[in-house]
Amino acid sequence: MFVALTVYGVSVTVAGQNVAWVLFACGGSVGMAVVVSEIVGACRHNSLMSSTNLRERPVASAAVVVRAALTELTRAVDTLQRESLDSLDDHEMLAVFRDLETQRRRLPTVDHRLITELECRCTGRKLLSRGTPGLLTELLHVDVAEAKARVRAAGVLGPRTALTGEPLDPVHPATAAAQAAGTISEKHARVVTGTIGRLPHSLDEDTVGSAEQSLVNQAQGLRPSELIKVAERLTAYLDPDGQLSDDTDRAARRALNIGRQRADGMSPITGLLDPATRAFDRGCTRPGCDIPAQWTQVHHLDEYQYGGRTDIHRMCLVCTFDHRLITEHGFTVRMGANGRVQWIAPKHLDPTQTPRINTFHHPPDLSDPDPP
Ligand SMILES: [Zn+2]
Repeated sequence: MFVALTVYGVSVTVAGQNVAWVLFACGGSVGMAVVVSEIVGACRHNSLMSSTNLRERPVASAAVVVRAALTELTRAVDTLQRESLDSLDDHEMLAVFRDLETQRRRLPTVDHRLITELECRCTGRKLLSRGTPGLLTELLHVDVAEAKARVRAAGVLGPRTALTGEPLDPVHPATAAAQAAGTISEKHARVVTGTIGRLPHSLDEDTVGSAEQSLVNQAQGLRPSELIKVAERLTAYLDPDGQLSDDTDRAARRALNIGRQRADGMSPITGLLDPATRAFDRGCTRPGCDIPAQWTQVHHLDEYQYGGRTDIHRMCLVCTFDHRLITEHGFTVRMGANGRVQWIAPKHLDPTQTPRINTFHHPPDLSDPDPP
């Protein structure tokens, strides 16, 4: 949350804690607050220490650098719009597309900085007597819902400053870092921050941090719609009673929890699979696929037609649609050390050849924040 204020205050130390009496003013409202220790969300425009602590801002040169960067970006896009693609082979085309997507995914983090700055300056109030979402709808002609979503995203993913002027991590640091690197999209980020934001407050910080990191890691190999399902499973695992979820959340979770597999490992597919197979896979093993076991087929990890073993532990469940990825499109599957089936996309789709597992049908393993 942002505290967009003009602040006048005094700061003293009481019992080892910084306590500040603050008079604040923003957009016509004036108030008084007692601030203990560091309060996050302030910006350098209203830093308590702004008069003494703030380094001299090289205003003119920064403005020149920012304008020059935009000119460069414009030129780069111009080039990509015009340059002939004829000489690129298929693999080069895919690489260009991947790299373009990375840059596209990074751009919202620039929004976060700009919005944070606008919030700090109370620009919307000054120019339009409106909040920042109102300013964005006028400036960019985006819908109110979109403007609000962007401001919310900046609030949890944008930079923060303590009242003392110190820079602080974003509220959701792992998500912010992945978006800055371009490995997850804006939609992925909204799924993660929305999920983490709805987790029960009683959960400890480490668990919440691990849950965020786990979702961010999985987001890099899943579509947002697939990530939503994984996130629902994670929420159900961390908050099995759903005490803090409202009716809408519960309805959505019911619809998404195909098979109603519970955190205690109980499986809804009793009677459709033998016990050995049930213990093995509870649905299609392709990462992100939520097809339950009754709609899958058995795939032999060894080429059994060439003499491979038919041992149950050398088989996995795959839905018909995803089976074609293996037989026709170069995806490989193998058994991981932990007994979970790993999928590897062909090199032209995933040059890093990262093995990925389906976490949808299993309770999430938060002890491993970086699942394969
Ligand atoms: Zn599948």
